[in-house]
Amino acid sequence: MSKRYSPSSSSGELTWWKPKNGTNTIRIVKSPNNKEAWIEVFNHWKVGSSRRPLLCTADDKRDCFVCDKCFELQEEAKTTKSEKDAQSLSDKAYEMRAQSRFAICMIDLNNVAAGIQGWDAPTTVVKKLTAFMINSEWGDLFSIEEGRNIDIAYDSSAEGTDMYSVMASPKQSPVPEECKEAAKNPPDLYKSKYTMSYEEQKNTYLGAAQASNTAPPPDTSEAPAPVPVDKTTPPATVPPGAPTGGVNLRS
Ligand SMILES: [Zn+2]
Repeated sequence: MSKRYSPSSSSGELTWWKPKNGTNTIRIVKSPNNKEAWIEVFNHWKVGSSRRPLLCTADDKRDCFVCDKCFELQEEAKTTKSEKDAQSLSDKAYEMRAQSRFAICMIDLNNVAAGIQGWDAPTTVVKKLTAFMINSEWGDLFSIEEGRNIDIAYDSSAEGTDMYSVMASPKQSPVPEECKEAAKNPPDLYKSKYTMSYEEQKNTYLGAAQASNTAPPPDTSEAPAPVPVDKTTPPATVPPGAPTGGVNLRS
């Protein structure tokens, strides 16, 4: 992972965390300027010949090469005579569709030395976290002095929402001393995310060598199966096998 970054950078670049199987204890930090502790991002999975994930930039007021490619595949499917070929084009677009994740800034309490990292948390984790925010007696989970550590139990062999259990500590505690300063002003998630140009997306899609300043790929460890990983997510707008008329590629 580390070779994707230039470690001396101070431009707000984040290293991206992945949960390990078992219990991970983390602390979520949020920018005082943000209302939420997370930003919703969309990742394309299994993109191009390298089948790697790629951040969708369509909602950053820019074009997204992968979305464009998906539209192209759908258009191609419409004019393809063989039903089987049309289906395979349509399936390919569906497989690459953008799926929602929630980027957060966090500290891995089992690896505090790594400082503040980013995590593309799945919808299910954010939903489970939100449950603690409904009852005000839990207080501000993300407060530097009086927030709570969060246990994330991860099981990569489980499916869908069963992959993650989320439990806030019953005890309030401060952020580890060595991370306090950084936690007061965590890296800008948008800036850390949206760094790849259209051309770089294209090159990545085509499997060409990446430019050195490209964004980190989203977390691959939890790449969902062709169906959305979170069973509570509304059905995708382009189910496999659907007629190719629908053009909303985001689920
Ligand atoms: Zn996209």
